[in-house]
Amino acid sequence: MPLTELIINGFKSFADETTIHFSKGITGIVGPNGSGKSNITEAIRWVMGEASAKSLRGSNMKDVIFAGSDTRPPLNRASVTLVFDNSDHGLSMDSEQVAVSRRILRAGESEYLINNQQVRLKDVRALFLDSGISQNSLAIISQGRVDQILNSRPEERRVIFEEAAGVLHFKEQKHEAELE
Ligand code: ATP
Ligand code: MG
Repeated sequence: MPLTELIINGFKSFADETTIHFSKGITGIVGPNGSGKSNITEAIRWVMGEASAKSLRGSNMKDVIFAGSDTRPPLNRASVTLVFDNSDHGLSMDSEQVAVSRRILRAGESEYLINNQQVRLKDVRALFLDSGISQNSLAIISQGRVDQILNSRPEERRVIFEEAAGVLHFKEQKHEAELE
């Protein structure tokens, strides 16, 4: 299920709504240091449920909201949407196109939507987990992540393999069942 579009609005350095279209094949994003390349991959991880502000280089989740610049005041909300072409049903949903969004207000919690329906973080995680593209998977390799994987303990590395093999979802379900 190829990612076809990324819509960023008010997230980090993207004060204005910005749409990135991904066509078939490889897309490269180039730009000088500090121009927002890493912010794009962080936007993708954020909408997929990243819960750690630190791993998004902030101290509080609200740090993802555009904080203002010399010429512009700060914003009060951020939103990111990922649009997938789901005609191969790689994401277990009937629809041919799947849009996943996350929004956060400076005043409140963040909310998630799948095809414009409000859902729980758990639903977003479940949608991505078996497709092998969850926010921690090797589908997204952030700056420094290669070193981190090479230096990780065997148990941590095992989680990466389990996710790639698609068994992590079942482990999470088992864990939840045990808690109930
Ligand atoms: P490099 O090539 O050095 O890796 P990059 O293109 O990956 O650079 P990023 O790290 O994505 O650049 O962008 C950093 C920029 O984003 C900085 O200028 C920083 O001020 C800006 N930025 C980060 N968070 C916010 C925020 N909440 N509001 C406004 N700007 C932000
Ligand atoms: Mg970078």
